[in-house]
Amino acid sequence: MKKIKAAFVKRNATRNISDLKYIFNGLNGLKERFVLINVLEDTYEFLHPNLENEQVMKRGPYNEFVSYLQAAVVNDADRRKLAGVLPLKNLTKMLSANSKKTISFPIKINICGEERWDLLSFIVVEMLDDSIYKVLLSRRDITESQAKEERQQKLLTEALEQAKIANQAKSAFLFNMSHDIRTPMNAIIGYTTMARKNLNNPEKAEDCLNKAEMSSRHMLHILNDILDMAKIDSGKVDLESAPINIVDECYATDAMFRSSMEEKNIDFKVNIDIASKEVLGDAVRLKQIVVNLISNALKYTKPGGKITVDYIQTGWTINNYACYEIRVKDTGIGMSEEYQKHLFEAFERERNETVSGIQGTGLGLAISKRLAELMGATLSCKSQIGVGTEFIFKVKLPLAENMTQQERADIDYSAFDGKRILLVEDNDLNREIAVDLLEEMGFLVEEATDGADAIQKIKNKGEHYFSLILMDIQMPYMDGYQATREIRSFNNKSLADIPIIAMTANAFEEDKQKALDAGMNAHLSKPIDVKKLSETLYEYL
Ligand code: ATP
Ligand code: MG
Repeated sequence: MKKIKAAFVKRNATRNISDLKYIFNGLNGLKERFVLINVLEDTYEFLHPNLENEQVMKRGPYNEFVSYLQAAVVNDADRRKLAGVLPLKNLTKMLSANSKKTISFPIKINICGEERWDLLSFIVVEMLDDSIYKVLLSRRDITESQAKEERQQKLLTEALEQAKIANQAKSAFLFNMSHDIRTPMNAIIGYTTMARKNLNNPEKAEDCLNKAEMSSRHMLHILNDILDMAKIDSGKVDLESAPINIVDECYATDAMFRSSMEEKNIDFKVNIDIASKEVLGDAVRLKQIVVNLISNALKYTKPGGKITVDYIQTGWTINNYACYEIRVKDTGIGMSEEYQKHLFEAFERERNETVSGIQGTGLGLAISKRLAELMGATLSCKSQIGVGTEFIFKVKLPLAENMTQQERADIDYSAFDGKRILLVEDNDLNREIAVDLLEEMGFLVEEATDGADAIQKIKNKGEHYFSLILMDIQMPYMDGYQATREIRSFNNKSLADIPIIAMTANAFEEDKQKALDAGMNAHLSKPIDVKKLSETLYEYL
């Protein structure tokens, strides 16, 4: 066994070279190569990987080893580093200065075309008259741990990047929101103030109120869009699968635009070529997508332009599914190729002077795209500046065969005449609006300002007085849920069973569920949609 004095441990003490393995923690003999550098003789020896065997595999002048190592190095930085360390004068100087008489660093090398990471460790193993005599160089393969570290580093960088993007998106969202909501809000406040100042000039006051109303509608549109985006992004949109007549829906959609197209002098053409009309789907969401596309075409096409909407059934019905293609084509301002890359991102609008003069928040297409994806449908676009734009919406829907046509009863308003409704609502303005609406429908309306007040009134009036209760949710003293639960637990069966309909600004699906869980019969969201209100009232009376 070859004995080497490990002088740096204890002068003149001898140490079996195999013990040196343990100086490099966790060595794996096979992944390790050893070179013994004889400083005084200026030579090197390749030792057998298993240090227990003293066999020398190759020896030669030290310079030969230096060029061998330099040739394997991949990076310039590593090459420079080695050039600083390898010359024996430098090496011995650095090792002498190091208290552990050891230097370690990783380098990247290429062995037979494969890039690997090695950890080089130089360690003094023998001294002679206070000078370094022999240095052992270990080359340990650390490719795996290095790769793992690199992967972790990459994951960390990506996570950081994601967090940055999310943060920027949040800031952009808040910035856009405060701008987009403030604009109509300022108009509403401004015009109502102006209307008040002009109470003795009814014409002017009326004009101001009209403008305030327009801004309110615009703001409602923005709020609905934001709510929609939030719902979609948090996975809270459940698509309905109800029987619909797709051709009826097409006609209904076009009817919405006829007069505005005429008003703007746009040649509006609609072609419907559909054989399978009865399908299952979510009519509201399908229409929402198409309405967004047509209203964009209308917004971004100048008077005298042309808009064509094609509703086409494509291919055969397969496995009881039918495929439809809806194309909305305009001869409008078009979009640059650069902008088209961001077309479906929220709040993105093309920055050109035409758009800056047209109202919009840049949410319409982001919502449409997400809804289309939820339906397993596709939404794509072809556009050229100054020539026009075509949006193509492709959707596959299950056929509603053997479906019985749902008969929708027309509302007979005389059914409402003289029926008494208890309106429970804490907000004076909302109460005033609702009372007006209900009285116009023929109802007699009584008011309560919170849940407790409502319960008192129902008890005082007794059986067969109120036909129905419209219940707000958030109210002081007792909220709508609590009030409903108490009414439902009345001993008097006919009072406990009065139909209760929630009328609330909490518009999420889970709010609806909560209302039903509390014992309410139905849920209407504010602002009140008159048609829905009358349909719901009709259904429960
Ligand atoms: P809103 O959220 O009210 O719909 P918007 O119309 O600006 O606002 P999107 O419908 O998402 O938002 O459209 C985003 C942008 O894409 C528009 O601002 C416009 O720059 C461009 N764009 C969309 N449709 C067309 C079109 N048919 N022709 C030209 N540009 C269009
Ligand atoms: Mg739009």
